[in-house]
Amino acid sequence: MLYVVATPIGNREDLTRRAQRILDEVACIFCEDTRHSGKLLAELGIDTPRLSLHEHNERARIDTVLQRLQNGESCALISDAGTPLINDPGFVLVRALRDAGMRVVPVPGASAVIAALSAAGLPADRFSYEGFLPAKSKARRDRLAALANDSRTLVFYEAPHRLEEMLADAANAFGAERLACVAREITKLHEEFRNGTLAELCEWAARDPNATRGEIVVVVGGASSESTAQRLYADEVLRALLEELPASKAAKVASKLTGERRQALYQRALELSGGAAE
Ligand code: SAM
Repeated sequence: MLYVVATPIGNREDLTRRAQRILDEVACIFCEDTRHSGKLLAELGIDTPRLSLHEHNERARIDTVLQRLQNGESCALISDAGTPLINDPGFVLVRALRDAGMRVVPVPGASAVIAALSAAGLPADRFSYEGFLPAKSKARRDRLAALANDSRTLVFYEAPHRLEEMLADAANAFGAERLACVAREITKLHEEFRNGTLAELCEWAARDPNATRGEIVVVVGGASSESTAQRLYADEVLRALLEELPASKAAKVASKLTGERRQALYQRALELSGGAAE
């Protein structure tokens, strides 16, 4: 069978005993990066043979894995950190093995999404894991706009150099007062959980150079029914004004009528009119 094994996202002690035993016992470990995982395995005294399996060779590797399993061997799949398949390679392989009727067994452990949710202090009973937002700003704003009325807690992975932009876009899309948490360097030396409104987090990210360092998860509280109603009302007002006025004027008048931030309304006006900045 193939074991899909979670490895630590920082603190080495987060590898489970079961994971350690299985990595020691299997015939071979498929690694996202054999050299990177080599360090972890060496620390654990595990010398199981390693083979690469990353986004560029995953399809080509399927036959190798299948043959080994059909020969009665058990293998493991690990990624550089955390749980394979969660924004890491493995989906194509696991689907192919399931289609071939092979056993695929999870060996659960660390994952940044769950670790962030467990300590962020935002509702974790219903959440949507959104992975990385698109890097291009138009696509990112469109994705955020589509999530604006979602009442579930939203979890994003984000690259440190894009955090400021992401928080600003999220404040525009969801409202500056929406509660959120930026979780940095979880389980590592400089772990930090920073809670606040999106406006406060934008301000912090612009001011504190440490805010944009390390690995980052952004957890955003879901839309309340009042904020959804307010946003729908603002959209209605904007749509009516856009029939008569350019986006900047429409945003200015809509801001007076609804009390929403002018900049956010201008951004929304551009989206509604499918236009570019004036
Ligand atoms: N498979 C991993 C998991 O289970 O979380 C995710 C891999 S994804 C390629 C890497 C991203 O996960 C990072 O850019 C960051 O957003 C998030 N991440 C991973 N480790 C983290 C940590 N220790 N603290 C905060 N975020 C982390």
